[in-house]
This record gives sequence, structure tokens and C-alpha cells, in this order.
Amino acid sequence: MLRIGASSCLLGHQVRYDGGHKLHRSVTGTLSRYFEIIAVCPEMEVGMGVPREPVDLVGDPLAPRMTGQRSGRDWSEVMQRYGRRRAAELERLGVCGFVLKKGSPSCGPDGVPVRARRGEAPGARRLHAPPTTPPGAASGLFARELADALPLLPVEPEDRLDDPSVCGNFIERVHAYRDWRECVAEGPSMSRLQDFHASHKLTLLAHSERHLRLLGRLLAEPGNDAPENVAARYGGAWMEALKQPATRRTHTNALQHLAGFLSARLDRDNRQRLTRLVDDYRLGKVPLSAPVALMRRHAAEHQVDYVLRQSFLRFPAAWDPL
Ligand code: SF4
Repeated sequence: MLRIGASSCLLGHQVRYDGGHKLHRSVTGTLSRYFEIIAVCPEMEVGMGVPREPVDLVGDPLAPRMTGQRSGRDWSEVMQRYGRRRAAELERLGVCGFVLKKGSPSCGPDGVPVRARRGEAPGARRLHAPPTTPPGAASGLFARELADALPLLPVEPEDRLDDPSVCGNFIERVHAYRDWRECVAEGPSMSRLQDFHASHKLTLLAHSERHLRLLGRLLAEPGNDAPENVAARYGGAWMEALKQPATRRTHTNALQHLAGFLSARLDRDNRQRLTRLVDDYRLGKVPLSAPVALMRRHAAEHQVDYVLRQSFLRFPAAWDPL
């Protein structure tokens, strides 16, 4: 089963500073149906214990420190060292996504309030700070190390997953990340990249036609770039494309494109049935999985390789309301 990581408290583990948890149903319910979830509590794993003194982010929002609210004890270096080591471990474990606890000085993916000084309100400006010093917010220290070590890893704060379309998109990006890791696992080569592109064309079409064209051009005209450089650019743009939400309209476009590859091989009745089903999906009468299942069946029956290899057909459940 594909693996993701999650802040432990979201799984109901009693690891918060006060011994509580922040169980989140989107994680323990929806995501646990698709993924094996590895629980990570950075504050417990660096030995802060429970119950413990709560910490804040303090200082420059571009490089905040993580300090105890009362004692001022500085945990920054410990947390940063731990974050780098844990990120490498998670990569070895094949983790392909992460759900992070919003607002936590350790786990918050962004927007965590930074206090100018211990005890001051978040965002307060130091008296003698230059006017350009941003009051504001930053990522939690573990979240930042994770993002630096694995910049393409899909990450979401738990509250966004309450929106079924965001949750579906996250599930899809986790699979997209796994596919990409597999593609470059044995070292990038132009033929592997071409193969990857051919199998994911319809997924790209459903998410971003602009990225589909851009990535096609990148592979068609690599210039003198080494495959490693082309792969680095491709991987970044691939994961960026998947962030653009696919919609009923763009899915319909991809379905019609695929139907075009099948229709010449179908008799009149089957052709009409397929066209009707795509139209029913366009009108919201059936879920995406209905036309996808029929296309998969026809493609297998008639051995239409181009259709069969499309990742678009592999995982429709993520796009239907969860
Ligand atoms: S937010 Fe992160 S550090 Fe805080 S309790 Fe949850 S898992 Fe632990």
C-alpha cells in the first residue's frame, strides 16, 4: 500500500503539549482507505516529552527560532537537525505525501504566527527593526526541513482536506509523485521521460493543457541539456501541473479525446453508449468512474495500447466526490 506521513496528533495520538490530540476524520477516515499512514510527531521524536512546555516561533519570520513560551529554551537546532534526518528516512520509506498540522510551530506548513520576541503578540514589530522587517508568519521548523529536502512532495494541512475536491487532488498528487519517483529511480534517461509523458498525457490534459504543451516541448527540444537537468525541470512542472484542479469540463475534454481513439473500433451501439455515458458525466448524471470503466473495458477488449497505458484511466475514484 502506498505510504504517506501525517502529524501524529491528527491520527488521535495523545502527543500534544497538554497530552491531547487533534484527531481529524479526513486523515483517519478518507486517507486511511487509500494509504498506509506513518505517524510523525517531531516534538516527541526530539525528546520534548508530554506534557511539555509549549513552544512559539520567535524572531525574524525568514529564519525564526523555536523557543519555549516560558523558559525561552531554544529548540531550533535540535528540530532542524532532526527534520533533515527524518525527511531522509521518510524518503527511504517511500513516503509520497504528508498531512501536516496547521498552525503548529513544528508541523505547520505555512502561516504559523511568528512573535517578534518571546511573550509578544504574533506579528508585533521590534521597536528598532527596519521597517522592511515583515511581521508575520512562517513554516513550522519540521515542515520547512521536509519541504527543503523533498520539494516535490505533496503536502496539505489537515483543514484543507475537508474539501472533497482538495482531498481528491491530494490523493491524485500522491500517486503522481509515486509515478515520478519510479520514473527516475534508476536514473533519468530521455526514453524513460518520453515513456512517462506518453502514459500521463491525458492526466496532464485534465489538469493543465498549458503544462501538457510545455512538457511536450521540453522533451521534443531538450537542446544540449543533460537528461538529469531535463528530468529536474520535467518533475517540477509535472507536480505543478497536478496542483491545477481538474474539473468536470477538463475531464470531459480528456474523455472525449480518449473516446476518439476507441470509436473506430466499436460498433454503432457501443459507440453511441460510450458517447452517451461521456455526456451523462458532463451533465453530472454519473460519476467519472462510469465512462472510465467502460473505456477501460473497450480498450482491453480491442488492445488499444495508447488508451490502456493512460494513468488517467487508472484512478478515477480520487476525482469522484469522496
Ligand atoms: S502538531 Fe506536530 S509536533 Fe505538535 S503534537 Fe502534532 S504532531 Fe506533534
